[in-house]
Amino acid sequence: MQLGIAGRVALVTGASKGIGFAVARGLAAEGVRVAMSARNEDTLASAVEAIRLAGGEAYGEPADVARPEQIEALFDRVRRRQGDPEILVVNAGGPPPGVPSALGEADWAYGYELTLMSAVRLARAALPAMRERHWGRIINITSLSVKEPLLTLTLSSAYRAAVTGFSKTLAKEVAADGVTVNGVGPGYTATERLDELFADEEARETLLETIPAQRFGTPDEVAAVVVFLASQQAAYITGQTVFPDGGVMGAVH
Ligand code: NAD
Repeated sequence: MQLGIAGRVALVTGASKGIGFAVARGLAAEGVRVAMSARNEDTLASAVEAIRLAGGEAYGEPADVARPEQIEALFDRVRRRQGDPEILVVNAGGPPPGVPSALGEADWAYGYELTLMSAVRLARAALPAMRERHWGRIINITSLSVKEPLLTLTLSSAYRAAVTGFSKTLAKEVAADGVTVNGVGPGYTATERLDELFADEEARETLLETIPAQRFGTPDEVAAVVVFLASQQAAYITGQTVFPDGGVMGAVH
């Protein structure tokens, strides 16, 4: 299927590893010109190089999305280099884990900046040009925790639900301008973050037993959903969240 996005400009944050990297690679494989961002310059450079070696058009722009001034500077640099992003994929590492009683003011303040306000600020920076051109795609990477909050991932569960509410309202505001706003909520996906959260072999085995597909998802499986939502064909899908989760969610939502 031709996705109709070759030559478009994308910005993917948290793009040096895991799901963000797979998304950047997936978009580049469709001929999208990808600006990749993450905090660490060296890791980012290796990720960019891997995509270029595979024939994709990509370059790196370091930024910490928890810092508002760095988001502004990131947009300035991307605009100067290749023009305004037409596809924006909002991703970063998850906020620190913890049950509600283990979290203090500083944890809540950091999660707010990293997870909720990064999505608000990145969208705010990207939207004026998207609306003017009457074409845009904003895709927020969230989690299955927006539907089924996880006890040990309080901040992720709370703030990603807020991101989802924000996406839904924004989707309504900009739908008539040719801009779609969606979420992709991965289930358990084999990345470094999953290795960190479930370092213990026994805990991994117990977790696997809860997944009907009996395996973890791959970053490429999550990326495939993101790339489709960025496509021309997905123009009438907005305000939604798609959950590539191997069947984990039990309820009819
Ligand atoms: P990861 O840790 O493998 O990769 C995270 C990426 O974001 C890296 O490139 C990292 O450098 C970058 N990053 C981290 N903090 C950043 C910041 N402040 N500013 C800019 N870049 C930053 O994580 P992943 O497993 O690929 O997960 C990506 C997102 O998906 C996370 O928010 C995670 O919570 C969510 N998620 C992951 C899973 C899973 O099972 N892996 C499940 C549900 C949701």
